[in-house]
Amino acid sequence: MSEVRVRFAPSPTGYFHIGSARTALYNWLFARGRQGKFVLRIEDTDEVRSTVGSIKSIMKGLNYLGIDWDEGPAIVRDASGEDRLISKGEFGPYFQTLRKNFYNQWADKLLEKKKAYLCFCTKDELEDMRKKQIEKGERVGYDGRCRRLTPREREKFLSHGRTPVVRFAVPAGKRITFSDSIRGEISVNSEEISDFVILRANGTPMYNFACVVDDHMMKISDVIRGEDHISNTPKQILIYEALGWDIPNFAHLTMILDVDGRRLSKRKGARSLLEYEDDGFVREALVNYLALLGWGTKESQNIFDVGELVSKFSLGRCTSSSAIFDNQKLLWLNAQHIKKLSAAEIYRRSYRILKEAGLDVYPAEKVQAAISLEREKIKKLSDIPNLIGFMLAEKVEYDKDVLALGGDCAEVLKGLLKLMKNIEIFKSAEIEKEVRRFSKENNLKTKFVFHPLRWAVSGRSRGPSLFEMCEFMGREKVVERISVFLEKIEKGGRGELL
Ligand code: GLU
Repeated sequence: MSEVRVRFAPSPTGYFHIGSARTALYNWLFARGRQGKFVLRIEDTDEVRSTVGSIKSIMKGLNYLGIDWDEGPAIVRDASGEDRLISKGEFGPYFQTLRKNFYNQWADKLLEKKKAYLCFCTKDELEDMRKKQIEKGERVGYDGRCRRLTPREREKFLSHGRTPVVRFAVPAGKRITFSDSIRGEISVNSEEISDFVILRANGTPMYNFACVVDDHMMKISDVIRGEDHISNTPKQILIYEALGWDIPNFAHLTMILDVDGRRLSKRKGARSLLEYEDDGFVREALVNYLALLGWGTKESQNIFDVGELVSKFSLGRCTSSSAIFDNQKLLWLNAQHIKKLSAAEIYRRSYRILKEAGLDVYPAEKVQAAISLEREKIKKLSDIPNLIGFMLAEKVEYDKDVLALGGDCAEVLKGLLKLMKNIEIFKSAEIEKEVRRFSKENNLKTKFVFHPLRWAVSGRSRGPSLFEMCEFMGREKVVERISVFLEKIEKGGRGELL
């Protein structure tokens, strides 16, 4: 079997979104599971809308997901300290703007073989043609009039300064059939395709043409891309045939819709991939979730690590019905994958988020210990500052609800204050034993002791395991917080529970 070579070919005209990331991932999984090569090609022929920033954000997004490419763009720092984009790999360059010679050369070949022709029609003429076709109820499309130009007519146009485009001469009455690896056989009659432009008047290629030239020259074996390209595939097959080239396998991935069945909007899922990173989603969860957007195992397994995905992924198990992007499921998967990480790793990955939240990130061991206490509750890395911030902060802010709750418990807290000062070994088991003994001796239900202690020490009603939290904070801080809390509530408290 010949080598598997696939490519991800984004147009760098905006942010790197979920749909593109899914296409990249499926190509990558396909290649990695078959000892194949994964190529990144930048389709930047739209020179007005393409930006270097967008190319870099695609590369950054792929890096974040852990999707590496064997050939494609790379960033190097030149002598002046500037970052430059270069191509790495034997079939480069991997930027279409740098491949114009190839497109011109192959367009000449098609002209020579009379499989393409020069078209001199102006915009107005094309518009006029379109209007007439609509009036007569005919199919709208180029009618092929420049196909029949004589050499003299062509010369005349050229001498009048008209700059032609190159159009592909679609053969008449031909059935174009291909077997889509996801959808099965797809067949189109060539009558439904009118002669399409392959090179613009300024010499830049149109997508279908550049794509075929590159896929051929880069020896791509399997083209895996979004469903929106199905209508392009028959045109591309015609170009392969006209140039006598082997046709790759095709697979068109299903659309991704939001939970209401609409195209992804910015609000529901169509965010930049890097926003997910900023928001505290871990790559393992995104990769897992993206993999499930249009693919699944027979057993409907939900949680995968990337190695499992590589070994299990196949186009045969991709669905042809639309995939639904469900934020809640992504969030759930994120929590599952975070649970699998060590506290040290969670710390490393949330370092930036913790710093931005103004937390003291050192000593690392201390922050990691705080993370360990709350790891079961983390859904996103961005939850961490709120979950552990009060444990690391110098002081705790008590809001009025907590102060109101504590108002009835001054006497309990005074007792606890004394107790905390005297506990011999300030470890969670010992603290628990002593606090329970204190409750019993004072004939109090434990909840009337545990809650006030939590309010005083953490300033909140919920949090990590109470005694582990006390041990983590240390005697000094626990005593200090109880004292401060007491001071604050004593003003208004009734102290009636003891
Ligand atoms: N540049 C095209 C896109 O971003 C690539 C399509 C293809 O994979 O052939 O949609």
